[in-house]
Amino acid sequence: QPLLAIRDLRKQFTRANGHLVTAVDDITLSIAPGEFIVLLGPSGCGKTTLLRCIGGLETASEGTITINGRAMFSAELGTDVPTRRRGISMVFQSYALWPNMTVFENIAFPLKSRRRGMSKSEIREAVEEITRVVGISDLHTQYPHHISGGQQQRVALARALVDGNALVLFDEPLSNVDAKVRRDLRIELAALQAKLGFAAVYVTHDQEDAMELADRIVVLEGGRIAQVGAPQEIYENPVSSYVAGFVGSSNSMSGTVREVTSTEVVLDSTMGLIKARPNPGLVAGQEVEVMFRPQHVRIHQERPSSTNAWPMLLRKIMHSGTHAEILLTHEHEIYQARADADFEAVLDSDVWVTVEQRHVFGFPKRAVP
Ligand code: ADP
Ligand code: MG
Repeated sequence: QPLLAIRDLRKQFTRANGHLVTAVDDITLSIAPGEFIVLLGPSGCGKTTLLRCIGGLETASEGTITINGRAMFSAELGTDVPTRRRGISMVFQSYALWPNMTVFENIAFPLKSRRRGMSKSEIREAVEEITRVVGISDLHTQYPHHISGGQQQRVALARALVDGNALVLFDEPLSNVDAKVRRDLRIELAALQAKLGFAAVYVTHDQEDAMELADRIVVLEGGRIAQVGAPQEIYENPVSSYVAGFVGSSNSMSGTVREVTSTEVVLDSTMGLIKARPNPGLVAGQEVEVMFRPQHVRIHQERPSSTNAWPMLLRKIMHSGTHAEILLTHEHEIYQARADADFEAVLDSDVWVTVEQRHVFGFPKRAVP
């Protein structure tokens, strides 16, 4: 049985000008116990609204939400269980700590309701346990404004995890901390989740967050699910130029379909003939976006005999320690390649670039808004 089941969920808002906005559009999604789900997409695609519907902070317009088989929300039946009785914890972008309470008091707060009937020493034990796990044992007597942003986010995390709920919702929790702290916290969060075993629905527009944390990524586009899958699955097999452009970096150029067969798509482009992986959705004559990943680009000094070999000018090499990013141009268009850290070449030299057919995608062109 799934921990969380969302069926046919829709949420519409009425704007001040009377226009209806569909923020969440017909979402169906199940989450297993202990699973880490990332909702990924650009600003405005409906991530926060979907999360708030799950948490009961927003009342959906249509559909159902079930947790552990219990209906939390049903538009049809008029069921709408309040947030505090959904068995969910939440962590937001702003840490939302109580400024007049110490770190200890902030974390103990969710445990202090009468309903739980926990004794003082039981509360102390629970807070000590979670602060040890989160690595903030030494901050108990501090007030929020005396500790760093990264520490505040750890306190918020400890407060969300202290009551041991099986489902934790995160809305861009790392977007207010700097890059280094962000990386550390991301790794710590992954370790915490592995250790404590809660299921997570984690909202972000950051593809690195998504790639590193997710068991499954849900890519949202205009309130709808564009694709669901494991990070590597989405990365290797994106279903559209939208998904390919949002998950991982990609090069892009225009093309026209010449021929579609069961084994390949042949395209015309500024590079001449291009052979792309099969896509039964395309037809001859169709305008397409041709996409390929930087790490699938090979650079050669001599003209290779393979297909998909294109002449380019090698413009710049950027070393990062672990690899080299290479910028190339062809008729004023810029392309990226990725090579080993020890890659060397003469700048502004003519080179040949190849990309294997199975690494080239042809996607229908999207209407540019
Ligand atoms: P995201 O979190 O992905 O940036 P949101 O869920 O915040 O996206 O917003 C999705 C869409 O719903 C946007 O078009 C936004 O303007 C609209 N929206 C969100 N909240 C409200 C609201 N309270 N009233 C009207 N429109 C809203
Ligand atoms: Mg948001």
